[in-house]
Amino acid sequence: MNKDILVIGAGPVGIYTAKCLAQRGYEVRLLEKRPEMAKQVCCTGLISTECAAKYGFESEHVQNIFSEAVVYSPNGQKLLLKRDTPQAIMLDRSGFQAGLLKQAINCGVQTNFGCQVNGLENTGNGIRITTKGGQTFFAKAAVLAAGYNTELSRAAGLGEIKHFAFGLQAESHISAPSGLELFTGNAISKAYFGWLSPIDDHTAKIGLLTQTNPHECWSGLHNVLHQRNLIPPGHIRYTCRQVPAGNLSASFGDRILAVGDFAGQLKPTTGGGIYFGLLCADLAISCLDKKIKTGNLSKAEMSEYEKGWKSLIGFELSAGRMLNRIYAGLNDYLIEQIFKKCAVNGMIDKMAAKSQLGFDWHGKAFAHLLKNPLDLIRS
Ligand SMILES: Cc1cc2nc3c(=O)[nH]c(=O)nc-3n(C[C@H](O)[C@H](O)[C@H](O)COP(=O)(O)OP(=O)(O)OC[C@H]3O[C@@H](n4cnc5c(N)ncnc54)[C@H](O)[C@@H]3O)c2cc1C
Repeated sequence: MNKDILVIGAGPVGIYTAKCLAQRGYEVRLLEKRPEMAKQVCCTGLISTECAAKYGFESEHVQNIFSEAVVYSPNGQKLLLKRDTPQAIMLDRSGFQAGLLKQAINCGVQTNFGCQVNGLENTGNGIRITTKGGQTFFAKAAVLAAGYNTELSRAAGLGEIKHFAFGLQAESHISAPSGLELFTGNAISKAYFGWLSPIDDHTAKIGLLTQTNPHECWSGLHNVLHQRNLIPPGHIRYTCRQVPAGNLSASFGDRILAVGDFAGQLKPTTGGGIYFGLLCADLAISCLDKKIKTGNLSKAEMSEYEKGWKSLIGFELSAGRMLNRIYAGLNDYLIEQIFKKCAVNGMIDKMAAKSQLGFDWHGKAFAHLLKNPLDLIRS
């Protein structure tokens, strides 16, 4: 079965890549291991308004819009992050993904569900892809968009992302209307945070990201939400997924490019990967288009893609990881102290006003703090 390009993984980044390549006139096949599109996706679907403006999401998939969020310290101090204009949009994640797939199919993308790719081989004049079920596909090139997947990245000769975090999520009834709320503290998450993101006055997506002990952290978040009368009593069943906390040593090879979570292109501070994944997909699409036209898809040529995405988000990823490591070392006492200082010195608002801190971009704020550490403790 010959195609110009095979895209592995029907998550948002893979589907978007397949759609755009088909729009450029390529014959594209999308291979997905699940038997069908997931009805429930373990992802909150929060994206920035910047991302929404660039990629134009359908209004029918928007569940909520936020211009503020309350962040809680471990002891319940509140920090209000408020802007005059909407900052974040919450998507119905499975609806959005299904809508994107429909668009891709309308553009001519062919799909194979229930197709778990487990082998890739460069044949010299193309790439051969094999699946667990024994199928074989050939193409000029392949885009790997299979989420966090060390087995496949090793099979593709791209090494593996060793570090990861656990992402947990559930949809739950809420006891009272609420805004977007974030929860910090070692009992809820090591290195990250928990959240409650309302869909309407009665339902919310509840989730957390943590480096360790996912089950204990879920209980910690549950206890805090319950103590604040935000959720009714009783255990809430969650789904859990690993998210990468690092990058592949190379996101390219002979005839292959890696995008999205597969390549580790997500915000290290929050685990948000939709926007950065789509931005990098745009670069992968342009690179493939150019290289297929020249007929040279060698590793050396494909390296242009990595240079492109690293110059776009590389600084954010390094700064975010450093920030994440520092935060992981803080105990609850130190987190309380930072909340106290931020509450009185208005540092977060000042950085937001200077555009150093946005929903997606945290690197400038971190660089500012490194240069001016006293801003953190100055009242
Ligand atoms: C709890 C949680 C909450 C999150 N909330 C947000 C959020 O609010 N905002 C945000 O931006 N990001 C969020 N994220 C991250 C976001 O979900 C990912 O960054 C995003 O889904 C990445 O898209 P992707 O297409 O790269 O990979 P994925 O969405 O992981 O899709 C990969 C696809 O590849 C398929 N696949 C895997 N292996 C194979 C194989 N061998 N062969 C064929 N197919 C394969 C999988 O079945 C899957 O369908 C969250 C993550 C978690 C865990």
